[in-house]
Amino acid sequence: MEEKQPVLELENVSVGYDSTAGMVQAVNDVSLKIYENTIVGLIGESGSGKSTLGNAIMHLLKNNAVLTNGTIKVMGKEVHSMNKNELRKFRWSQMSMVFQSAMNALNPVLTIEAQILDVYRSHYKNMSKKEARARARELMEIVSIDPTHLNSYPHELSGGMRQRVVIAIAIALDPKLVIMDEPTTALDVVVQRSILDKIKQIQKVKKFAILFISHDFSLVSELASKVAIMYAGRFIEVTDSKSLSHTDQHHPYTEGLINAIPHLTAEEVTITGIPGNPPNLVDLPSGCAYHPRCQFATERCKTERPVVHQIDNRDVECHLYDAVRKEVLES
Ligand code: ATP
Ligand code: SF4
Repeated sequence: MEEKQPVLELENVSVGYDSTAGMVQAVNDVSLKIYENTIVGLIGESGSGKSTLGNAIMHLLKNNAVLTNGTIKVMGKEVHSMNKNELRKFRWSQMSMVFQSAMNALNPVLTIEAQILDVYRSHYKNMSKKEARARARELMEIVSIDPTHLNSYPHELSGGMRQRVVIAIAIALDPKLVIMDEPTTALDVVVQRSILDKIKQIQKVKKFAILFISHDFSLVSELASKVAIMYAGRFIEVTDSKSLSHTDQHHPYTEGLINAIPHLTAEEVTITGIPGNPPNLVDLPSGCAYHPRCQFATERCKTERPVVHQIDNRDVECHLYDAVRKEVLES
């Protein structure tokens, strides 16, 4: 049977930042496929490379960043080989992103309507103002904001409403992929919950794929059907989210994240409890980059980078999942 085309296909993607200290290896050889109508979570501590990967997918990397290896395909098209014009058409219509703190990035001197009309009119040159306005009203209804607020300026809306507007703009052109980078982090828990429910509702109807970036493990495991766990720029585990609570065979870092939360359904959880700090991405630890923090680390872990092991519905990058696991567990 022919395989369905992924909405997003990452193949061996690496991204580095040129810095005075040396090359920061922010994303290090990651591969992933996301299909339509699915939500995939991307989780990891601060500085693990999540936003860099999101920006690389959108081809919106900072000036000192370089895609050093790999391919990024959205709807089968290689994003980094598009020219400026192709990219301009492709962004927002095929792939869009809700950036971190995006609600503060709305233009303060334009009404909400003007900002939404801009999106329509820059992509659909022949769209009449009347039709664009009707679509803007529809969009407001989709994100549960009274369309009278189209005449408001951003400062006249609450943080939660501004965030809904940003989500509305991201889905305005019916993209196939929406990257959401910590879309609710700046909001209080109640507003956060209502926005997440809204995202789920809209996604069910529109069936686009979401790459949902967060450091909140419980939130992601509840929202997403699959989760990629990022450590020092690598996907150290990719798992379906059901297995997160139903099996104890995870990467030690994933287990650390799971153990650090009291309940997977808790509303507000912070990641604590994993000893040590994330590594310096300019000078990564040898072997497995997690070894200085790992309670199971062996001499081998210090010198040899683990390969990926496929176990049921999980891809785990750890030596424990080959013969060494037996040795360590029995010792
Ligand atoms: P957070 O959750 O805090 O947003 P993150 O997981 O999204 O973190 P990134 O923002 O992608 O992580 O950063 C990955 C690494 O790249 C970090 O070590 C960061 O310091 C570094 N980095 C980010 N931007 C630059 C830059 N412009 N120049 C050099 N290093 C950078
Ligand atoms: Fe720990 Fe070794 Fe597995 Fe890395 S490879 S997570 S150091 S046991």
